[in-house]
This record gives sequence, C-alpha cells and structure tokens, in this order.
Amino acid sequence: MIMDEYINFTIEKQKHIALIAHDSKKDEIIEWVQEHKDILKNHFLSGTGTTARLISEKTELPVRAYNSGPLGGDQQIGAKIVEGSIDFVIFFWDPLESQPHDPDVKALLRIAAVYDIPIANNRATADFLITSRYMSEEYERKVINFNKIMHNRIEEMTKE
Ligand code: PGA
Repeated sequence: MIMDEYINFTIEKQKHIALIAHDSKKDEIIEWVQEHKDILKNHFLSGTGTTARLISEKTELPVRAYNSGPLGGDQQIGAKIVEGSIDFVIFFWDPLESQPHDPDVKALLRIAAVYDIPIANNRATADFLITSRYMSEEYERKVINFNKIMHNRIEEMTKE
C-alpha cells in the first residue's frame, strides 16, 4: 500500500488564533494586539486565562479564555491544535525566567511543530506573521502522515 508522507490541512482565511504571554510579556502582547487590532478582529481569538482576559479588557476584542497557563492552559491549547480547532499561535514566552509549567511550554512548542502550526515566539516574528499575505488567504499546512509510520511499524512487528 502506498501512502503519502504528509497530509494537508487547510488553515482557513479566518484563523483560529491562540494568544499567550508570560507575566513579563503581558504588556507587550496587549500593545501588539492593539497595534494589529484591525487585522485580528477578523479572526477567532483565544488564549490562556490571564492573557485572554487582559487582552479583551484592554482592547475590547472577544477572546475565549482557557485555563491559566500554570493550571494547564497551554496544554488545553495544545489539545486544540491536535483536534484542529487552533491553527495559529502567538506565544510571547519569557526567555529569562523559568516557569513552574516549563514542561507544558515545551509540550506546546513541540505539538505546534508536529502540526505545522505558525507560531510566533517573539514580537518580530509576530509582526512578520501578521503582515503575511497568508493572513487573508487559505494555507495548506503539512502534517506528517503518522498512519504511514504506524502501518510500517505494524508490518515490521508482524513479519515472520
Ligand atoms: P496566563 O498563562 O495567561 O494565565 O498568565 C500564560 C502562561 O503562563 O503560559
């Protein structure tokens, strides 16, 4: 049986954007959202608890709030990526401070890589992403075809 290496998933014109910022980066993300409000208002926004609430309070944009990061919010966002209901992430994490939920942060970065999700980890990257022509177009992300890997592993494990 021949299977493709990758499976395509469409990031629609209207993106499902998750916004996350560690405490020292909260002001920066609010400022960034304010700056790009005209673009962001056309998409579906969500975020970890505190970040989401602060952004919607300060910018008046609707932002769906998941749990706070230290209480599993990053993991909830990771799960939504797996399910296909978040396809774009802005994550201003603090490179100078360790966090109680560092393993969750690492897990989120990993799952975003697995699912070929655009993810900005600092303001410059976020500026480049938000001004990309793909913001107003569909985009085909490519996810490794794990069915193929499973198929090959099962074949390998069951061969006489
Ligand atoms: P918070 O979580 O938005 O609830 O502060 C962010 C994080 O620490 O990952």
